[in-house]
Amino acid sequence: MGKLFGTSGIRAVINEQLTPDLAIKAGLALGTYLENKGKVIIGRDTRTSGEMLEHAVSSGLLAAGCDVLKIGVAPTPTTSFSTKYFQASAGVIITASHNPPEYNGIKFFNNTTIAFTPEQEEKIEPIILKERYKLAEWDKVGKAKTIDTAIEAHIKTILSHIKACNGLEIVVDCGNGATSLLTPFLLKDLGCKVIALNAQPDGFFPGRSPEPIPENLQNLIDVIKATNADLGIAHDGDGDRIVVIDERGNFVSPDRLFALIASNVIKENKGGTIVTTVDASMCIDEAVNKVGGKIIKTKVGDTAVALSVCKYNGILGGEPSGTFIIPEINLCPDAPLAAAKIIELLCKTKAKISDLLKGIPEYPILRSKISCPQHIKERIMNKLKTTINKVFPNAQIEEIDGLRLNLKDSWIIVRPSGTESVIRLAAEAQRKKEAEELMSKVSELVKKEIQMGSK
Ligand code: MG
Repeated sequence: MGKLFGTSGIRAVINEQLTPDLAIKAGLALGTYLENKGKVIIGRDTRTSGEMLEHAVSSGLLAAGCDVLKIGVAPTPTTSFSTKYFQASAGVIITASHNPPEYNGIKFFNNTTIAFTPEQEEKIEPIILKERYKLAEWDKVGKAKTIDTAIEAHIKTILSHIKACNGLEIVVDCGNGATSLLTPFLLKDLGCKVIALNAQPDGFFPGRSPEPIPENLQNLIDVIKATNADLGIAHDGDGDRIVVIDERGNFVSPDRLFALIASNVIKENKGGTIVTTVDASMCIDEAVNKVGGKIIKTKVGDTAVALSVCKYNGILGGEPSGTFIIPEINLCPDAPLAAAKIIELLCKTKAKISDLLKGIPEYPILRSKISCPQHIKERIMNKLKTTINKVFPNAQIEEIDGLRLNLKDSWIIVRPSGTESVIRLAAEAQRKKEAEELMSKVSELVKKEIQMGSK
C-alpha cells in the first residue's frame, strides 16, 4: 500500500492532507501516465469541496495535455460508466463516499469502467511524490468542456437492461448525495411510484450521515411504515452502495440481499460464477451452492472484486457493505443499477421482499474496529499470525486479505483497514453467543498486540 492511495483512491480531510495543490498534482500525474492523452471524464459527489478539487484536477490534466469532460455532480458508477460511453481515456471521481463531510477523495477509472488497480496506482504515486510530470507544449494544452447528459445516458442504459415494472411503491433515501439526481428518476422511469427522501444535493448532508447503516435510516424506516410502501432503498454519498428496508420496515442485511440477488442471477443464467469478499456471510455460500453456482472470494475492496469478476468471467460481484457489480453495464459497483435489478425481481416474482428473503438464514455477523496507528499495522498483523496459531491450533488460516480463521460453522477475520487507522474484525457463527465469544477472544489478542507494538 502506498502513501497516498488507500483501498479507494486518495481520501483525506480537505485542506489538511487533501489540498488543491495535491489535486493539481494528481491531475498532472494522471495526464502524464496517459500516454495517448485523449479526454478524461471528471465527476464529483455533492461535497462542499467538490468544485474546488474538480478545478484543480482538471487544471493538472489540461496542463499535461489531456482534454477534460466535466459531468458535474454524478454518482461514482455514472462517472465510471461515462468513461466507456463517451470513449474517454480515463475517468476521475471526486468523492469520499460515506466519510464525514470534511473529507473528500480522488479516484481514477479506466475506460473499461473498472477502477485503477493497485499496480496502476503504484505507477501514478511516484509521479506525484517525485513531481515527474510531463507538461504539454503551449499549443498542446487540453480543452475543457462541461456536459449534462451523463446521468441521462446512464439511466437509459440501465432501462435497456431491466424489464419495466408496474406500480411498486418505493421509498428512496439518497442521503443528500450524488444519487439524488439519478435514482428517484430511474425508479420513476421503471414504472414505480417513488417517494424520495433527502434527494436535494447538499454537501453538508443535513438529512443524515452519508453512510447507509441502520442507525442513520430511521426516517426511511418510519416513512415505509407510514406509507405501506413495498421497499425502501438507501444509498451512500456517491451511489456505489445500496441497502434496503423491507416492506415491514426491517433493515435487510446486505449479505442476505446479495445472497438473494446472486441466487436469482444464477437461476437466470442457468449457472455462473459469483464473486464476493473474504468477509462475506456464509449465507451467500449456501445460497450460491444451492442453485448450482460457483463462488470466488477475494480481498476486501470493490476493485479486487471487479478484477476477479473479469478474471473468472463472473456474472455478479459484490461486498457485504452493499456493493453490486453487474458486469454487462459497469465494472464499478452500481447502486442505482442494483436498485433496478432488485425491483425487477420483485415484479417478476410478484412477491414481497421479506418473503423472498425467507429462505436465506440470518447468521449473526459481528463487525468491529480497533484503533491502530498506520505505521505499526503491518508489524501487528505479522505478530498476530503467530499468536493466533497458538491460541487456535485447530483453525484453518487463510491469508487472502488479513488473517481469516475458519472454524467449524464459524469464522473470524482480522484485517488492517485501507482507508482508516484501524484494524477491522468480522466474526460469524450460527449462534450469536459463539460469534460474540470468538470476537471478544480475538479482539483481546489484537488489543494486546497493539498495546505492545505501540511501546
Ligand atoms: Mg461509496
